[in-house]
Amino acid sequence: MRKRYCYLCKNKIETVEPTDTGTLNHYVSYFGVIEPRSKTRLCQKHQKKISSAIKKARDLGLKFGES
Ligand SMILES: [Zn+2]
Repeated sequence: MRKRYCYLCKNKIETVEPTDTGTLNHYVSYFGVIEPRSKTRLCQKHQKKISSAIKKARDLGLKFGES
């Protein structure tokens, strides 16, 4: 029934490290804004993990949305 499937669930990724900027980059727009769930297609659980990882990464001074 569900056509959209959360990428992280699909790949059985349970935790997202703030240092994993490669993964986090997919979920941050060009301007460094966290993409909404309608765009990321993540489940609620993983959206929350992604956004908290991004916030932590910002605290660490890591940069996103630039490549
Ligand atoms: Zn998920």
